[in-house]
Amino acid sequence: MIRLDVAVIGGGFCGCAVAAHLSRSASGHVALALFEPDELGRGAAYGSRHAEHLLNTRAGAMSMFADDPQHFVRWLGPRGSPTDFVSRRLYGEYVGDVARPLFGRGRFTLVREAVGHVRPYGAGFVVTSNGGTQFAADRVVLATGNPPPNDDFLPAEVRIHPGYVGNPWNFDFRTVGGHVLVLGSGLSALDVIGALGASGHRGRISVLSRRGHYPEVHAEVLPYDLIVALDTHDARALLRSFRAHVRTAQRRGFDWRAVVDALRNDSETLWRRLPPAEQRRFDRHLRSRWDRRRHRAPAEVDAVRAAYEREGRLATYAGRLQGFVAGEATIALRDGSSATLHPDWIVNCTGVGKAAMLARDPLIRQLLEDGLVAADSHGVGLRVDGTLSALASDGAPVERLKVLGSLVRGCRFEATAVPELRVMAADVATRISAQLRCAEGTAASSTAEKRENLVAAASWAATL
Ligand SMILES: Cc1cc2nc3c(=O)[nH]c(=O)nc-3n(C[C@H](O)[C@H](O)[C@H](O)COP(=O)(O)OP(=O)(O)OC[C@H]3O[C@@H](n4cnc5c(N)ncnc54)[C@H](O)[C@@H]3O)c2cc1C
Repeated sequence: MIRLDVAVIGGGFCGCAVAAHLSRSASGHVALALFEPDELGRGAAYGSRHAEHLLNTRAGAMSMFADDPQHFVRWLGPRGSPTDFVSRRLYGEYVGDVARPLFGRGRFTLVREAVGHVRPYGAGFVVTSNGGTQFAADRVVLATGNPPPNDDFLPAEVRIHPGYVGNPWNFDFRTVGGHVLVLGSGLSALDVIGALGASGHRGRISVLSRRGHYPEVHAEVLPYDLIVALDTHDARALLRSFRAHVRTAQRRGFDWRAVVDALRNDSETLWRRLPPAEQRRFDRHLRSRWDRRRHRAPAEVDAVRAAYEREGRLATYAGRLQGFVAGEATIALRDGSSATLHPDWIVNCTGVGKAAMLARDPLIRQLLEDGLVAADSHGVGLRVDGTLSALASDGAPVERLKVLGSLVRGCRFEATAVPELRVMAADVATRISAQLRCAEGTAASSTAEKRENLVAAASWAATL
């Protein structure tokens, strides 16, 4: 068995960021393997096939390192300015460019395979790749990212329809024509519309979501300095006091967007102050309203939707898909009426999948079944404590198993975007390197043995 100090599972944004931080802070002999079957640094967000899929955050806020905020802008050079919304593909290239040089230099190994299971082994874990190779790892970092949108609410006929697209993030929309029904009206729906527009689609688009609202659009606004004194007694009080705050700011000449942005640093704390039942109420009734304002669309992205609408080729429905029989979709509208549509394609843009979708992932399912991790009480992701240690099914922290990124959305209010995820990654790396320093000298295997193991791992990985 190949011995490791750290196994990082997932080489999307978070896995790469943890490896990059560990390479800076951990002592020279740390044996780390990062497992990623796909292209490094891309994940669901930055692996899009469409160049017109843009970041929804300006380049100036997208450095992988909070302590070096210009890192991405320097990497971009003449390809973009700090205020640009650059393409997500380009961003994936950046994350990959940061991560790739870390590997193959002796200490860090890139394993181009998915992990099939992780089981306790001594004080640590045995990590088994899908190819069957086993690694004994003292610590594991789980960063497997965004599950595709939930589909369990869809009629079975939709899921087996030849024009059904269950995962819009890795689909090539150049092959799509005719009438497209988009389920969901968030950023992914705008991405689909943008990709269709850019690939010469001449048909109709119908967009269906609970409220029929699109994300708000970014604008250049004067920054606002918020002194947060919002009422967190319950979700309604929070909304009321936030609205009052926005009105006050607007009277002073500030745009509501600046207030939302200023709240970003405190939103996690505010949300945590809500009692658990109120957090659930917030998620049910207010989360999508908040997300629409907080995760805004670049104006050029929304412009494609607006153009479709102007040409009379886009209709937006507020309601839900009631049935789908013999190619006919019945929509129950919010106003009590109904509509029928005959789409050629149905694209699921209802957002990052929740716990049910997550549990379809074989690795996560195994971890849940073995009780090493547990679903959070919001039914969104996995439970972690304040140090991002997994909480086992009995509630005990598993200190050697860190979980971060999209997987912890249910426990961390802002675990969705790079400016927060990079802080999480640095935190995990700092904690691990401190633990490794403490354990130095008491480790089961000697430094020489680990080096030998890594050479074995590297030559094995090179054969893949
Ligand atoms: C469509 C979309 C657009 C987004 N746009 C933005 C944006 O513009 N700005 C922003 O700040 N945030 C954006 N986000 C949020 C985004 O989720 C985060 O920025 C970030 O990519 C999440 O990082 P992650 O490491 O948790 O997951 P990911 O980046 O998705 O990485 C997870 C990785 O784990 C790998 N993996 C999965 N299972 C296994 C396994 N068993 N073994 C080994 N590897 C495995 C996957 O192949 C993948 O590469 C977007 C999200 C989505 C879904």
